[in-house]
Amino acid sequence: MLEDRPRLALLSGPTPIERLARLERILAGDTARPLFVKRDDVMGVGGGGNKLRKLEFLIADAQAQGCDTFVTTGGRQSNHARLSAAASARAGLACELVLADMVDRDDESYRRNGNVLLDGLFGARLHHVSGDTDTLAFARARAEQLRAEGRKAYVVGAGGSSPIGCLGYAACAHEILAQEAALGLRFERIVIPNGSAGTHAGLAAGFAAAGDDPRRVQSYTVLAPLAQAQAATRDLARETLKLLDPEAALADDDIVVLGGQRGEGYGIPTAAMLEAVRLVARAEGLLLDPVYGGKAFAGLIAAIRSAEASGPSLFVMTGGVPGLFAYEPAFRDEDRSPRQAVSASRDAASQ
Ligand SMILES: *Cc1c(COP(=O)(O)O)cnc(C)c1O
Repeated sequence: MLEDRPRLALLSGPTPIERLARLERILAGDTARPLFVKRDDVMGVGGGGNKLRKLEFLIADAQAQGCDTFVTTGGRQSNHARLSAAASARAGLACELVLADMVDRDDESYRRNGNVLLDGLFGARLHHVSGDTDTLAFARARAEQLRAEGRKAYVVGAGGSSPIGCLGYAACAHEILAQEAALGLRFERIVIPNGSAGTHAGLAAGFAAAGDDPRRVQSYTVLAPLAQAQAATRDLARETLKLLDPEAALADDDIVVLGGQRGEGYGIPTAAMLEAVRLVARAEGLLLDPVYGGKAFAGLIAAIRSAEASGPSLFVMTGGVPGLFAYEPAFRDEDRSPRQAVSASRDAASQ
């Protein structure tokens, strides 16, 4: 059924799975358990990242409906917004982004660098709105204005996490199953960050549709509080599964969302995130982002150190590297505590 859906090729093929042997030894010494990463940060268009998998289905759906403009929403440093702008450029669609100030930062690096710089380069039209704005309602109102001008807009909310967008990660579940077969191993856990829930929902639906175990997918919420993230992920996974196999079902406990890494909230640095980003950079020369991957990897590090993770683990690197450039203040002085790093970024803002 996945094969019947319109899909625009934005990835050049399966993303690689690599073993992090040095990091395994640093984390657990002789008791080291195999630790692999799936490089969803390595993709050709727009700097790459997990949103590109969703956009393969979303942009194709927009084109199938005869739309000429792609409208979506996110936080000011949204990776989804940046990749929507890039994918729209690639597909010849106009792109409009409704960006809310969800994080309490007004320093230059947060407001203008990182993803915001790239949104402009990719030619998107930006609508900056306050953090309490209903961005989806704003986007729909903008689509109405465009319609009055004779244009036709496709609207999708934050993270591209509609059931159609989630099909991108259902397809990724099949990709992982094929790679496991080729590698001759089976991952005990597949760890990801959870923001708008679509990556988790898509993977869980994909594994369920394939008759595999969706509980292998474990996400750390970085945005919504745990109970809310769990409920949203469950609902979205069920809606996505309906598109794949109306007969299949997901039980409540098939969706494993974990807490403990969100800290004070979305986009606010934690000590464990800073440690995880530095550790992966220094041990392996790889980049995690500060909002999603850094926090989720911190959760996996804790699971490995406590020997809770006993079999092979797969961490999906979801991209977001441009976000690092918006978090320069948090990384400025590695001897500062994260609390101080956060207030340093606020100080920088008030100067
Ligand atoms: C959006 C995003 C996520 C979270 O994916 P969701 O599908 O929104 O849960 C993880 N990592 C990065 C880098 C992202 O941009």
